[in-house]
Amino acid sequence: MFSTAIEKFIQANNYPSFKPKAILFDMDGVLMDSMKFHAKAWVESMEESGFEFSITEAYMNEGSTGHATINRVFIREKGREATEEEKKRIYKLKSECFDACGKAERMPYALELLQKIKAEGIEILVVTGSGQPSLLDGLNNHFPAIFQKDKMITAFDVKHGKPHPEPYLMALAKANVQPWEAVVIENAPMGVESSIAAGIFTIAVNTGPLDPKILEEKGANVVLSGMKELYEKWDAFQQAWHTTAHS
Ligand code: MG
Repeated sequence: MFSTAIEKFIQANNYPSFKPKAILFDMDGVLMDSMKFHAKAWVESMEESGFEFSITEAYMNEGSTGHATINRVFIREKGREATEEEKKRIYKLKSECFDACGKAERMPYALELLQKIKAEGIEILVVTGSGQPSLLDGLNNHFPAIFQKDKMITAFDVKHGKPHPEPYLMALAKANVQPWEAVVIENAPMGVESSIAAGIFTIAVNTGPLDPKILEEKGANVVLSGMKELYEKWDAFQQAWHTTAHS
């Protein structure tokens, strides 16, 4: 499964090899079991603002910055972009709804996987469309001694956000690696789109309610059922990249 995907990836991109030195993790729905809260908060805040917005739509917009999501709804519903004031107001409402949902838990198997990768001396970065100021504190509480402040890309760092390749291109630059020296772990269609556009091998973990075909259609190199499967297959993946990698 992995060897074929790696071969195809190298050929399609015309890369010299595939030798991962950095693993780039999305946060919501990958490291944190927070997407159900984000989706609920989006539906509630949009409804309160007079817009129809479904749970599925929330998952389809995942990965995008909040302001970009609001803008998309305005263009669809009103035929114009949202003003700065409207974006701020609805995003504030969404954040309040999100906070009222309670605390998100760590995704099962995420810590075990991160510890395994760290022990192998491979770099770990977080690339998220989220923009809570307390993001790093939260991650450090759930994943002690794994992340560094200068190895995170958040909503504060980017101009475009996912599905644009910018966040993952920034992550490559921060890790100081080439696209064939990294792997992305994503759960969202727009996240997969972003990382594929950045030319990075992408493993999608389908931790939400969407049809896994959507992740395949966005170009994911491998689609797995969730973090448990990723953790269990990590050794096989590594084995595949060591035996497939051209030098
Ligand atoms: Mg996500």
